[in-house]
Amino acid sequence: MLRRGKGIELKSRGEIEAMRAAGLVVARALAAVTEHAKPGASTGELDAVAEQVIRDAGAVPSFKGYHGFPASICASLNEKVVHGIPSRTEVLAEGDLLSVDCGAILEGWHGDSAVTLAIGEVSAKDRALSAATEASMWAGIEQVRAGNRLTDISHAVETAARSAAQADGAEYGIIAEYGGHGIGTQMHMEPFLPNLGKPGKGPRLRVGMAIAVEPMLTLGSAETEELDDAWTVVTEDGSRAAHWEHTVAITEDGPWVLTAAED
Ligand code: MG
Ligand code: MG
Repeated sequence: MLRRGKGIELKSRGEIEAMRAAGLVVARALAAVTEHAKPGASTGELDAVAEQVIRDAGAVPSFKGYHGFPASICASLNEKVVHGIPSRTEVLAEGDLLSVDCGAILEGWHGDSAVTLAIGEVSAKDRALSAATEASMWAGIEQVRAGNRLTDISHAVETAARSAAQADGAEYGIIAEYGGHGIGTQMHMEPFLPNLGKPGKGPRLRVGMAIAVEPMLTLGSAETEELDDAWTVVTEDGSRAAHWEHTVAITEDGPWVLTAAED
């Protein structure tokens, strides 16, 4: 049974294991998308690939129909940050940077994960941006531990993003309007997880919580706009963005990355 602490859903060990099964479906879907994400492929094709993997696993694509979203993945190309709608007419080209976000429900449990993919050969700047975003995500995940406060994660994400920027000789925008979230029987649950801020604030993390950690960095401004389709979020200045995400559970032994591929 679910218990609740301060509005955050607590999962039993068995329920976390059920979430791992859902997370593995998402990992497989993203692996298949990664394999197909080449110049000449459309984001609509990638969506079909993801949906097939999810349905073949007996799971349901959680994005499809979510507040009316029409697809199983978000495909956010170049200056699109998140929530891009895949399309058969959006064809990938050499040098594109594509963020793919995917979610699945298995036996009532959710997994949510995102990767940023280089299409063919991308510029060194784009590669560094994606690597910095992924490194920020892992720094955040490292803090998804019982006893920490929520914003210890936020602070770790921000610190890693800033040190990557320094190392890369770049100035990365850290998107503040969107962030991570609790996850379990729903995709988006309490608490909202900011990607920057002071440590030591927010709810105390406990064994049985699950949180999606998902930094979004840009090569320029951190300001965003929503397109007329009422979904696609783009950078205000047209700079490119990257987005990485994993669903992570808090166990007695530390963070368990539920959407990581089987090793
Ligand atoms: Mg996601
Ligand atoms: Mg998410």
